[in-house]
Amino acid sequence: MRRTIFAAEHDDFRESVRGFLTKEAVPHTEAWEAAGVIDRDFWRKAAAQGYVAFQAPEDLGGAGIDDFRFNAIIDEEAAYTGTAGDGFALVNDIVAPYLLDLTTDEQRERWMPGVTSGDIVPVIAMSEPGTGSDLRAIASKATWKGDHWSLTGSKTFVTSGIQADLVIAAARIEREGVEGMGLFAVEAGAEGFTRGRKLDKIGRKAQDTAELFFDDVTVAPENLIGEQGRGLQLLMKNLPQERLSIAVTAVASAERALEITLEYARSRNAFGKPIGSFQANRFSLAEAATEVAVARVYVDRCIEAAVDGSLTAEEAAGCKYWTTELQFRVIDLGLQLHGGYGYMEEYEIARMWRDARVQRIYGGTTEIMKEIVGRSLGL
Ligand SMILES: Cc1cc2nc3c(=O)[nH]c(=O)nc-3n(C[C@H](O)[C@H](O)[C@H](O)COP(=O)(O)OP(=O)(O)OC[C@H]3O[C@@H](n4cnc5c(N)ncnc54)[C@H](O)[C@@H]3O)c2cc1C
Repeated sequence: MRRTIFAAEHDDFRESVRGFLTKEAVPHTEAWEAAGVIDRDFWRKAAAQGYVAFQAPEDLGGAGIDDFRFNAIIDEEAAYTGTAGDGFALVNDIVAPYLLDLTTDEQRERWMPGVTSGDIVPVIAMSEPGTGSDLRAIASKATWKGDHWSLTGSKTFVTSGIQADLVIAAARIEREGVEGMGLFAVEAGAEGFTRGRKLDKIGRKAQDTAELFFDDVTVAPENLIGEQGRGLQLLMKNLPQERLSIAVTAVASAERALEITLEYARSRNAFGKPIGSFQANRFSLAEAATEVAVARVYVDRCIEAAVDGSLTAEEAAGCKYWTTELQFRVIDLGLQLHGGYGYMEEYEIARMWRDARVQRIYGGTTEIMKEIVGRSLGL
């Protein structure tokens, strides 16, 4: 079905993103996977092309383009080309809204030029060893010391945590007269801020993921992002876009998996015929193709809703869980139809399979997404 959400400027943008990723990312994917981290030069090159935090105003190095369709195009092209890493989704879709919408002019001027040039990698640290789904149980605490905050606690599973130059950490506030949480910006090099090991994941191997530790880190009052005590509400406000971003990747990955599986099923023979011509396989692929097409229409509708500001938390949650579950099913079918070759690292479907698994977990698990949808049903 023809997509209807894009204009000519989006199509041109897609073409340039695809060309850039094909030239600058695809040839290095294997090396980045082996290193467990993406080359910083690549990130600077992407930033020089205007692909990083382009929502920022021009005087801060961005393009002033606040249109989620451009974000979606980068996410989709990263999935279609098999580009390693989650950097674009992390910075453009998840962290930029915190840095642009919740910050003061002074904070934006301090951080955004570095973010848009690729010199500052910003990350978000909510999850902790003791809690992920239940953000209210965050134990990191920020204690007011009269003229600064003291931040103490541990974070885990932080995407780009090894490369991070600026960490937005959620912490419980300990200050007389203030209840709730706050978001604190910690710059690399701050005394008491250390990184743990690079976590050894089963997939998304080129993307570094890390533990971060804060031991009585001094945080200046001007590094508080948004209002003190409202950290949880601020996280909740931005999570729908994070979930849509994951859904966009999910559908694009499912489309890519379907494409390579169809090619394989047409060309691989067994018992004298292409494996795709057996009715069982043809039916499975027909079901997958139909479900992916349905998902595509729903995600596109959610992208439109994000653009006009009407995407609800429930719509984003439903979209995230349904598309990521579908992504995994379609990729698993694709791997099965590749037979033994599907289990071999040199086959794209194998990498897609191990990379897909986490989509049902991060950004809020499928179970938590169903809770969010369920709560809206008046049950
Ligand atoms: C590769 C990767 C990258 C990540 N990147 C980041 C990042 O950049 N920043 C960040 O802050 N976090 C990040 N995360 C953390 C991620 O968001 C959490 O792992 C996720 O939210 C789940 O939290 P948890 O791991 O603590 O699981 P838990 O919350 O302990 O959940 C364990 C299981 O219990 C289930 N469960 C929990 N509560 C309920 C309930 N009420 N009803 C039914 N079932 C329930 C869950 O669905 C899950 O199946 C990342 C994680 C991974 C793996």
